Amino acid sequence: MAQVRPQDVTVSTRLTDVLGRRLGSLLIEKLNLATVGDLLRHYPRRYVQRGELTNLDELVPGEDVTVMAEIAGVTGRRMRRRSGHILEVVVTDGRGRLSLTFFNQPWRERYLQVGRRGLFAGRVDTYRGKRQLAHPDFVLLGDDADADDEVVEAFAGELMAIYPATAQVATWTIARCVRRVLDGLGELPDPLPEELRRRRGLLSLRDAFVAVHRPRTWDDVRAARERFRFEEAFVLQVELARRRSATRALPAKPRVARPDGLLAAFDRQLPFELTDGQRAVGETIAADLARDHPMQRLLQGEVGSGKTICALRAMLTVVDAGGQAALLAPTEVLAQQHHRSITALLGPLAERGMLGGAEHGTRVALLTGGQSTAARRKTLLDIASGEAGIVVGTHALLEEKVTFADLGLVVIDEQHRFGVEQRAALVAKGREAPPHVLVMTATPIPRTVAMTVFGDLEVSSLTELPKGRAPIRTVVVPVSKPAWLARVWERVREEVAQGRQAYVVCPRIGDDEDDGTEQPQGRASVLELLRGAGSTNGQPAGRASSGRPEPVSLLELATILSEGPLAGLTVEVLHGRQPPETKDAVMRRFAAGEIDVLVATTVIEVGVDVPNASVMVIMDADWFGVSQLHQLRGRIGRGKHPGLCLLVTDAADGSPARARLDAVASTTDGFELSRLDLEQRREGDVLGAAQSGRRSSLRMLSVIRDERVIADARAEAAALVAEDPELVRHPALRQVVDALGSDARADYLEKT
Ligand code: ADP
Ligand code: MG
Repeated sequence: MAQVRPQDVTVSTRLTDVLGRRLGSLLIEKLNLATVGDLLRHYPRRYVQRGELTNLDELVPGEDVTVMAEIAGVTGRRMRRRSGHILEVVVTDGRGRLSLTFFNQPWRERYLQVGRRGLFAGRVDTYRGKRQLAHPDFVLLGDDADADDEVVEAFAGELMAIYPATAQVATWTIARCVRRVLDGLGELPDPLPEELRRRRGLLSLRDAFVAVHRPRTWDDVRAARERFRFEEAFVLQVELARRRSATRALPAKPRVARPDGLLAAFDRQLPFELTDGQRAVGETIAADLARDHPMQRLLQGEVGSGKTICALRAMLTVVDAGGQAALLAPTEVLAQQHHRSITALLGPLAERGMLGGAEHGTRVALLTGGQSTAARRKTLLDIASGEAGIVVGTHALLEEKVTFADLGLVVIDEQHRFGVEQRAALVAKGREAPPHVLVMTATPIPRTVAMTVFGDLEVSSLTELPKGRAPIRTVVVPVSKPAWLARVWERVREEVAQGRQAYVVCPRIGDDEDDGTEQPQGRASVLELLRGAGSTNGQPAGRASSGRPEPVSLLELATILSEGPLAGLTVEVLHGRQPPETKDAVMRRFAAGEIDVLVATTVIEVGVDVPNASVMVIMDADWFGVSQLHQLRGRIGRGKHPGLCLLVTDAADGSPARARLDAVASTTDGFELSRLDLEQRREGDVLGAAQSGRRSSLRMLSVIRDERVIADARAEAAALVAEDPELVRHPALRQVVDALGSDARADYLEKT
């Protein structure tokens, strides 16, 4: 049995040493709980008030549950077909009923008596239309002889903890283990400094464990949760504050623009005035770049707010100072476009060494995976010699053979698709010292996410759009209204007739690689509507395996449109599986106004900038997330023409999918939409796999709900780390902080 004297039990004591081999191994094997600390941080999922029965109507088939209920009926009988005994017990919450079946346990009938109450645990399923718990586990409550003493003791208070249920370890078994562990627990080193705890009125670690597992009142539960929530936020923020201070300790080359250099020349030739926000961000970045430690800044902003100009001005600052800047883009299309638009914006300033080029100008190089070997070789030389001041590229920039003469700044644009290692690879290309880093997000991100997921970066935001932008109107178009859909294509024609251009976005390409063999039901009718009457293709209607109809295929739609509703217009396609030259050629022609309608996948989602495009039709809009729709829609209304965005969907009125689309249609405030997006995702999706598993450091804290807590913890953490960066005066804190270390950011962005 127990090999540790009670007063010696700490959070790192192995459970087998406190609980004995049998229970200890059960907890490791079934719940992955190895130490006392693991068990104590296996918090109850909820509590049941003594005497209060579980609402049986709320049980969901397939879930493991623990319910408190009263026995309403017991029938035992021999089975006719097979030999054996079956005992059916019906329990009730006073209204609903649930049936429990026991095989070959006739003796249970003696104490499973009508009127007794107990906890019953098992997996909910349905049998002949009735809900039941198969092979349930149970304990009876009450003070008489049949009740399990230890369980009664474990549930001594008014509130009983119900633990995350598993099929093999009942909640009362966990409660019993927790009680034993708590009884033997001495004072614990607390990661929260005492002074802070006092000031904020938070429970000590030991008191919080007792209060969360064996509460006497709801106030106990609240106080314990408050403490753990704060602790989780605080530990994470201390880690982030330490990363910030570690960056601050690194050396970097200060980069200051020459007074009459490239940046000044660029500003003079800008065709528009910078917004106040752009100006302010520019000053902040210039100050960062002038320091002798690397900038680590996040620039987020409303779609279309002009982040690219801010990044370009930062790059020109570095070039002015004799260094190079790299701009890393997530897709080939975007890299090409950046290269084109930066070259165009710079004009003669990008033509150094060429006839007519400005003498203090620079060169802008493009490096992507799809280039020819000869073009690559030339580019690599320009990068290595420093001839190219600005280098735009995709992942190809990260390869080992890419060396810079003097890399001073890395801009990571619309960085969704970059992981930590990739960022690190680029940063390692600084010759003498790490380069400055500017990260740009595609859409606004909620404050809580900025503070947690990007918490090691300083944050700048652009909230206003340049003056003179016409607003974007967004309308949901239900497929169930054929006349509306017809009107969609009329609107496209009208815009084109006025010299504008249009995007049509589809979630699926529809070539051999992703094409299902079935013609999905419902979807066939959409295509028929588009084709005009009558021309069904005779294939049987069916559904995609997911049970959801497959979305309209881009290739098929493009054909239908150019033969039908958009006949006579120049309609072309753009998608990720085209060769890079094709993509580039199509984008060039669209930008030049030679294509009227671009039927595309989300390759145009990030950053594509063609101000003359004024209308966007998004097919199967419910297939896209809220932020993604906002980002897509940001491709129009970038010039002086009012934008119109049409969200085509077959999502039923009143469905959650339809509600999301209505929300997108109701506002163009990206910050508000990003909050909405966040609310609709599960916590695990926000912080990614590393944080959502059993060993997550965030169990009580919600990035969605606990903004106040996170902000407070951040301020406290910053103050503490400023005083004691190595946490020498806080060893208990240091220990838990060191145990953190996962990169939630990459996970978050993956899922945006
Ligand atoms: P995003 O922030 O979405 O990346 P971009 O940087 O692509 O936005 O800018 C959107 C468009 O607005 C571009 O065509 C850009 O040239 C233009 N733009 C940027 N700043 C201004 C400004 N201050 N005034 C007018 N137009 C601007
Ligand atoms: Mg952009």
